[in-house]
Amino acid sequence: MGSKVIFFVHEQPNLSKSNNKPNEQETLLLSTSSLKSGLSMSTLHVKKVGSGVLLKYGEVSLAFDTGIKGEITLLSHSHSDHIRGLKQARHIIATEATFDTWNARNSESSTDITPVEVGDMFGQIGVNITLLNAGHVLGSTMFYLEFDDGLTALYTGDFNNVDSLVHTAARPLEADVLITEATYGTSSWIFPNRKEVYERILNAASATIDQGRTPVFNAYSLGKSQEAIALLQSGGFRVISGNLSIDKVCKVYKDHGVDLRYHTMRSANVSDALESGAVIVSSSFRHTIDLARHHLEKRSIERLEQKTEGFNLSGWTAGKYAERGFPLSAHSDFEGLLNFAKTVNPRVAYVFTENARPFSKHLSDIGINAVPLE
Ligand SMILES: [Zn+2]
Repeated sequence: MGSKVIFFVHEQPNLSKSNNKPNEQETLLLSTSSLKSGLSMSTLHVKKVGSGVLLKYGEVSLAFDTGIKGEITLLSHSHSDHIRGLKQARHIIATEATFDTWNARNSESSTDITPVEVGDMFGQIGVNITLLNAGHVLGSTMFYLEFDDGLTALYTGDFNNVDSLVHTAARPLEADVLITEATYGTSSWIFPNRKEVYERILNAASATIDQGRTPVFNAYSLGKSQEAIALLQSGGFRVISGNLSIDKVCKVYKDHGVDLRYHTMRSANVSDALESGAVIVSSSFRHTIDLARHHLEKRSIERLEQKTEGFNLSGWTAGKYAERGFPLSAHSDFEGLLNFAKTVNPRVAYVFTENARPFSKHLSDIGINAVPLE
């Protein structure tokens, strides 16, 4: 499967010396004596720790999306809710793009890192690990673990099972154990077809400009903003990035081969673009206004203060905030999560994030033994 094989042999950490022991309760012990190899009597321990998950199996101990003193961290992507406490980590493994987007948005980063790529396989004593594309943001990955006794596990991080203009959909792989997000894990979260969402966004941009106003699409600076820029540029709009953080992440996308064309607030012709019907993508409109006050002409600042129309680009708009934007999500919807889990076909699923408990119930209802990690 892998294009490159890297082996790490790390000394196992001595947990007794750690003063940062996870205090969350263990949720389930899985005896593997009944699994296919029958060779091992190891017990699987999976627990929520900080922003992520700690997995222990035999001599293998791995942290996912969280930093634990003495432990190796597998980092799925660099959204802020996945990088907390990483200074504690003994070593961090992620894709080059994940480290690049992390560095672009954060002043502090770790030096004890190993960049790997999607498709790479690497190992430590007791386990081989393969990175799979997660379809969530640039460089985002899932981790597929193959333990020496034959047990397999898939950790998803955040994932999207739908292709977008700038990201390729995550594909499931069968595994004995699934550790999955469940952000939109209740049956009320069903997103429209992405093409339809795209059309609605482009139509809203046109209609707003026709009214003499400037459309502002609010989106996370990592992932969603770049998708919005790619969409709006494909629709023939002149796009302005409203924040420095978006500019920095766009540069990383471009460095990794994604075609993004847009003005920044510091570009010479932004005022003219605004007057002739440009659209803005912003991760914080307050900061966009601040930036405008530093770089734009008075007429442009007045336009931004008085003649804009804001739209949120988020899966959450599919619910009670529907009037405020469009359900453009970087996550799988409920059906996507469910179909993904069915294909993985695990003996046990551990579920984290918001909606972990209801999604575990849904999995149990279709015959998958599931445990919420809370
Ligand atoms: Zn994320």
